[in-house]
Amino acid sequence: MDVTFYGAAGEVTGSMHLLNTGADRILLDCGMYQGRRKESTDKNRNFPLDRKDITNMVLSHAHIDHSGRIPVLTGKDFSGRIVTTRPTAGALQYMLMDSGHIQESDAQYLNYKSLRSFLYQQEQNNTKKQITERGKSDIKKLLKKNAYDLNNESINNLQKKNGLDIIKPLYTMEEARQSLGFIDGYPYKYPVTIGKDTTVKFYVAGHILGSAFSLVTIKKDGRTYRVLYTGDVGRFGKPILQDPTLVFDEEDRDIDLFITESTYGDREHDPVADLGPSLKRVLIETFDRGGSVIIPSFAFGRTQELIYMIHELYDKQEVPRMPVFVDSPLASNLTQVFGEHLESYDMDTHEAFLKKGINPFYFNKIRFVQTVEESMRLNQDESSHVVISASGMCEAGRILHHLRYKVHNPKNTILLVGYMAENTLGRRIEEFGEAMAQNEKQDPPELKILGKTYPLRAKVEKIGGFSAHGDKHELESIITKSNLRIKKIAVVHGEASQSAAFAQTLRSRGHDVVVPKSGDVLPF
Ligand SMILES: [Zn+2]
Repeated sequence: MDVTFYGAAGEVTGSMHLLNTGADRILLDCGMYQGRRKESTDKNRNFPLDRKDITNMVLSHAHIDHSGRIPVLTGKDFSGRIVTTRPTAGALQYMLMDSGHIQESDAQYLNYKSLRSFLYQQEQNNTKKQITERGKSDIKKLLKKNAYDLNNESINNLQKKNGLDIIKPLYTMEEARQSLGFIDGYPYKYPVTIGKDTTVKFYVAGHILGSAFSLVTIKKDGRTYRVLYTGDVGRFGKPILQDPTLVFDEEDRDIDLFITESTYGDREHDPVADLGPSLKRVLIETFDRGGSVIIPSFAFGRTQELIYMIHELYDKQEVPRMPVFVDSPLASNLTQVFGEHLESYDMDTHEAFLKKGINPFYFNKIRFVQTVEESMRLNQDESSHVVISASGMCEAGRILHHLRYKVHNPKNTILLVGYMAENTLGRRIEEFGEAMAQNEKQDPPELKILGKTYPLRAKVEKIGGFSAHGDKHELESIITKSNLRIKKIAVVHGEASQSAAFAQTLRSRGHDVVVPKSGDVLPF
């Protein structure tokens, strides 16, 4: 028996591994590569396996870098099932549809760009002169409905007319919808048959709602083999969710191969205990200035934690009760999924809310904004409020409109609660914010938002510690503080330096550790 590592080996996206038991081939996750467009698009389109040969798939959690290629898997020849936890199955209904929508918009944007340059060139050839700004603007008008929306019909017609290639999305919303029919959700700690004498049992991973350690048990030639795949490991002591599992069922303790993530294999996080007091300070200071707090946030996990913590602060009357707007339809739908899975909450949530019959994600100051019109009205609302909106790194979505109306005013706060990747607007706000804190007298830096520049005068605050990934101590505790007895460890899902450092730590504790490269086969 062996495991082949296809993605998230020496990197953090595109998680996908194949467990070969001899009788069956079980896919562990089917994630999307994210990052530089060209490189990740090529990797996402090249599915490296023959789908006919895959018996079933096991999914650790709903994040797109673990689940985003499911519609690519189910698109043809796959006749297995996708086995996961119930909350993950619930969240995927929205996550995969949203991903399909993003794929369609991305493809349309690329079609727009290539057609636009073709038409510019054509205009220059016709007039034998450099194209004027006026000429460019006329062509853009032909291809766009307004400043933000493309005219897809007109774009595709002109592409056909001029014999240009039309770029297709990785998958469509309709293909995403069809893939949902393959997904089965099960309770935690319930063995599900996934192959010949082979079962999977899910244990709480504490990373996001529904996230799981997948424990695969194979009975073969009179022996029992166990593979534990962590997926992403959460933090201990965070609000809402139960902590990652340390006590496994007696019959599951002996692990032949332990496959662990290592995103923060060499880093330490801010303590979880600091989150509440930091949030309280930001809310009070902004309210005192008469401003609003704008929070770019991921729709799944981070948004619900923020709602929960603000709810707690409001209930304890520790901060002024400004209205709170969740302005992301995806986040609103996923908050509903959170509300349906009380079995996943920790004891504190039961004590603080559920035992009193209170929904942690609803209170009289919160409003889930649905329509574009309501979102636009909110942009111009001058009274103090809190907005939680997506996308988390300010790359797209309604957050951009809140920013363009609010960044110029020093009474407002932009509160950053997540990791900002390089080359994103979120990262620029973060860096400018740090520079402004160093030197308050300098001219305000300029931010480019939706094609226009705005001076950044709002206060930029950052609260670390919200990370959904455990740090090096938390990752290690699953191995050293749990009741597992582990024979061999494979370290995946980390940048090379993080994986190498984590592997070194584990070796120094006496473990047999490998750091596989993409394509490596590891027998066990
Ligand atoms: Zn994740």
